[in-house]
Amino acid sequence: MLVDSHIHSSFSDGVYSPSELWHKVVEKGLAGWALTDHDTMNGVEEARLFGSTHYPDKFFVAGCEFSTHHSEVGEVHILAYFFRSYEGILPLLEEYRKSRIQRARIMVDLLRKEGYHLEWDELVSRYEDKPLGRMHLARALVAAGYLSTPSQAFQGLLDNRGRCYVPRREIRPEEVIEAVSWAGGWPILAHPTFLVESDNHRHIREWVKRGMVGIEYRHPRVSESISAFLLGEYRSLLLVSGSDFHDEGGEKDLGKYGVPLAWWEKALENERKHDVKA
Ligand code: AMP
Ligand code: FE
Ligand code: FE
Ligand code: ZN
Repeated sequence: MLVDSHIHSSFSDGVYSPSELWHKVVEKGLAGWALTDHDTMNGVEEARLFGSTHYPDKFFVAGCEFSTHHSEVGEVHILAYFFRSYEGILPLLEEYRKSRIQRARIMVDLLRKEGYHLEWDELVSRYEDKPLGRMHLARALVAAGYLSTPSQAFQGLLDNRGRCYVPRREIRPEEVIEAVSWAGGWPILAHPTFLVESDNHRHIREWVKRGMVGIEYRHPRVSESISAFLLGEYRSLLLVSGSDFHDEGGEKDLGKYGVPLAWWEKALENERKHDVKA
């Protein structure tokens, strides 16, 4: 029985609400899941409430996927899991939310210069509580009739080399690791394909020294050979796996990625022992 440890809801850039995700996860025969929206934990309350009412025997962990930037290797995603309160992380999440709104404003202005008019007030009122990002703009471009699929927006407009792309405010991996640890969460490196391919293990080791406790070793964008390598190289860390499910396109991966429930239970058990000693 697997726990899919990486899933996005409509509280970030996924299309399904946490309640809808519960049904999907259970239909696929999973033992449980982790909600890991980008830079927000606003969906956790709904997920917890719905799970405890409808699926009390299933496993759930509140998580988040932080987008960070490293000066040498570029974009690094860090998953964070919180088994207790996540209140301590709220100030950092508020910083993320505000800076995303400022950045989206600039991208909307750039899009207008290219002939794509999106209503800023409408976007803000719709997404104010969400980590407004490129996927939302891509869907708005489709809704406005400019494109037929969101992925077309990532072919020259909003992709990293696109004409209307603006980088997010650069928050370093170390800042997130520190803030998550301080708030009582577990920081885990997400889908490290690029770091492995570019042989940047020294960064991974440095982050582990600073408090990173695990690595996402299986993911749709981590090849089988890299997974096998990570499993051997980082076996002393907590290894997690998830589908990164956002929408219909990822449906095939739901139920396929995940870690055995026993792995999470063992990690929790270890933490409890640690608590007793401390
Ligand atoms: P942001 O955090 O605002 O920079 O947006 C990142 C999100 O945009 C990702 O989580 C994906 O959902 C989407 N995205 C980024 N690059 C691409 C791409 N090349 N093709 C499709 N979606 C993408
Ligand atoms: Fe996403
Ligand atoms: Fe990611
Ligand atoms: Zn993700």
